[in-house]
Amino acid sequence: ERIVAGEAEAGEKDFEFSLRPQFFDQYIGQSKIKENLKIFIEAAKLREETLDHVLLYGPPGLGKTTLATIIANEMGTNIRHTSGPAIERPGELAAILTSLEPGDVLFIDEIHRLHRSIEEVLYPAMEDFCIDIVIGKGSSARTIRLDLPPFTLVGATTRVGLLTAPLRDRFGVLSRLEYYQEHELSKIVKRTANLLNIEIEEQAAVEIARRSRGTPRIANRLLKRVRDFAQVLGFEKISVHLAEDALERLQVDKLGLDHIDHKLLLGIIEKFQGGPVGIETISATIGEEAHTIEDVYEPYLLQIGFIRRTPRGRIVTDLVYKHFQMEVPKK
Ligand code: ADP
Repeated sequence: ERIVAGEAEAGEKDFEFSLRPQFFDQYIGQSKIKENLKIFIEAAKLREETLDHVLLYGPPGLGKTTLATIIANEMGTNIRHTSGPAIERPGELAAILTSLEPGDVLFIDEIHRLHRSIEEVLYPAMEDFCIDIVIGKGSSARTIRLDLPPFTLVGATTRVGLLTAPLRDRFGVLSRLEYYQEHELSKIVKRTANLLNIEIEEQAAVEIARRSRGTPRIANRLLKRVRDFAQVLGFEKISVHLAEDALERLQVDKLGLDHIDHKLLLGIIEKFQGGPVGIETISATIGEEAHTIEDVYEPYLLQIGFIRRTPRGRIVTDLVYKHFQMEVPKK
């Protein structure tokens, strides 16, 4: 497993749950989204209505599930969690919808993975708070309409482009989560250290933040691993030296890149003179699936300007040569 993966690892859920901010004032960063949501929530409460349906999108580990929980807490309602792949038949979604209490938040993670026939149940549910149920079979089949309590759907996705237009259009609020700044991640690291009862030097928090790829989930995970080193080595406090040493051993470099990033970047440099090279060719060369490269490995490298997409394929930028202390080739 990749220590710098944005997705949650198996067995990481309990740890994450214990750290999850419950209200906006504990949720660090994403100020634009936070300010907007605060206003929408305030307005909904004043009108004694439910909040509009909210779609949260962006890379894994940036705090979508956390925000959904906060929305419910700030509205003073309950949240029900489910996910696109967990719902296998339309009837299962209908059962969830009819069991909601008025004002509840229904959170559907990975909503782009809902099957089309299930998605269609959501359209009238979102629009008119009702569902159509077919009873009987063949010529005696008839449809009855069931009213639902008013609720707020919060959908989360890492792949907003895969959402169908009819589903996307039924959300009143669409918010894209951004990668976090270093100073925000360092605040998150200090908050987590506090919750875990460990002391950490300011500069050590910055060092962990810098290697967290803009992602709170990774920041918390790295802190947890660094804490392991501190405990085993008998240190009371995480110093910057300890943090650096531990992260080095974990093979997470100064920018949060690991051996897979190195393989990808050095592969393009060594085999294709830095590109441009097509994604399929890269895939065949380094032995990783093209869509994994596009969905998992590339986004952060694009974000930090290490890779650029051109019509003729990917190229690595000068930053990469500098990062590896290699001579930048003359153009
Ligand atoms: P996503 O649903 O986008 O994959 P999560 O909401 O599960 O991400 O967040 C992953 C972890 O990161 C959570 O356990 C939470 O503690 C932490 N986290 C995310 N966003 C923030 C934030 N803005 N402030 C503090 N902690 C955060």
